[in-house]
Amino acid sequence: MSADEWESLCDGCGRCCLNKLEDEDTGDIYFTHVGCKLLDAGTCGCKDYPNRSDKVPDCVRLTPANVRTLNWLPPSCGYKLVAEGRDLYWWHPLVSGDPNTVHEAGVSVRGRVEGSEEEIPDADLEDHIVQWPALLPKRARLKRRPKD
Ligand code: SF4
Ligand code: SF4
Repeated sequence: MSADEWESLCDGCGRCCLNKLEDEDTGDIYFTHVGCKLLDAGTCGCKDYPNRSDKVPDCVRLTPANVRTLNWLPPSCGYKLVAEGRDLYWWHPLVSGDPNTVHEAGVSVRGRVEGSEEEIPDADLEDHIVQWPALLPKRARLKRRPKD
């Protein structure tokens, strides 16, 4: 798979760019609705993708090897679905041909980011835990694009 093909597996949801908390005892991951400082909450993309590793050292670059082991990728993630041998959903841009369907399906973080890590201190993150990034909206689980 070429680098461009690999990149195209990303649906552009932005869920992986939300801050997460890990329970030290259980290893369980909890999403928050607080974005990485480089997350553009409107486009749901990275504001400086080429330089992300310099600006955010703990930004994890996804590879064919690590997508199989990372426990914090959301169930909607294109890389995770492909690694598990599952089909992409109707709203994935590679299926729909339209980068907006990830927003239409309610999968992206658009309109749901409540602040940036530069505004909300780590000590307050527990107050910003949310469930939705680990879930798929009903609309997104449909076999094909709804007609309405
Ligand atoms: S969760 Fe997966 S599909 Fe969504 S932005 Fe992150 S890498 Fe891309
Ligand atoms: S640096 Fe960019 S790609 Fe990495 S987590 Fe932040 S917004 Fe996402």
